Amino acid sequence: MRKIAVLTSGGDAPGMNAAIRAVVRKGIFENLEVYGVSHGYEGLINNQIKKMELGDVGDIIHRGGTKLYSARSEEFLTLAGQNKAVANLKNLGIEGLIVIGGDGSYRGASRLSELGIKTIGIPATIDNDIAGTNETIGYDTALNTIVDMIDKIRDTATSHERTFIIEVMGRDSGQLALNAGLAAGAETIFIPERQTKMSDVAARIQSGLERGKKHSLIVLAEGVMSAESCSLELGKYINIETRLSVLGHIQRGGKPTAKDRVLGSRFGAYAVELLLDGQTDVGTSIKDDKMYFVELKSVYNQKKNYDSSIYQLSKELSI
Ligand code: ATP
Repeated sequence: MRKIAVLTSGGDAPGMNAAIRAVVRKGIFENLEVYGVSHGYEGLINNQIKKMELGDVGDIIHRGGTKLYSARSEEFLTLAGQNKAVANLKNLGIEGLIVIGGDGSYRGASRLSELGIKTIGIPATIDNDIAGTNETIGYDTALNTIVDMIDKIRDTATSHERTFIIEVMGRDSGQLALNAGLAAGAETIFIPERQTKMSDVAARIQSGLERGKKHSLIVLAEGVMSAESCSLELGKYINIETRLSVLGHIQRGGKPTAKDRVLGSRFGAYAVELLLDGQTDVGTSIKDDKMYFVELKSVYNQKKNYDSSIYQLSKELSI
């Protein structure tokens, strides 16, 4: 293999730049030509493919977002779109492609593998909802951002003796809400994987108030319901004033933490090694601080489990 390419796809995640940098530098170190595809699969279809040099990835390791831009592509869902993408890669003599993204991006990478391009996935999404790996790029940064925001909210919640409902990202996965809730000492955590009875939440708040608690923090994953609906529901069981805070896109941005930069760098270099070993249709994975690879199909056909012991612990610690 002499030429490889890299792209970022789906939602951006802090640490993607460290992974791009590692792919480019490790590739050049191994005497490969490395191409950057901008705007994900859309850019692959539109031939936005450029050879990258060492300097093209300078000064990006500490930046959030992705230097290659990300996109979602409807056209790539069609066979015609996928064939265009393959033709563009083949015209340039590119045999291997590294796809940095989430579940959907992995499905796209699998399709390209079936069509004759060797593909390796790198898991990157702040939700940490990709099976087969303990962590994804971007999760640690987002978690720290959320905890930082909740700490700030806690200051004002205490001063005004109020209950705050903080809505965080996570449509199908409660990983961010669960771990941020534990780290920030939230009284209640709502996650999509588990039912929480509103009457129990109200009873906990009530007993907290009775023992002189100044405030209450509720962390809510967006996939459960909106902060507004949560407030209305809670109001049916207890007469308290709630304040709502929807953290939104700040969770996706910002400088990657050291952990995400290390993870991005390791995944990027390992993905190049996998291509050189002749692998395809697999994704990088980390477990017990070691690098592994897993079949892409086994990843997107599975749902990642959440750790119920963390949920239980957060309940025990917030009595
Ligand atoms: P995030 O977890 O941040 O949403 P993602 O990678 O799951 O990231 P998606 O929007 O689901 O984001 O997927 C990114 C792109 O991958 C899509 O826009 C589409 O072009 C491609 N893709 C998704 N599903 C498929 C599929 N079944 N076949 C081919 N391509 C796909």
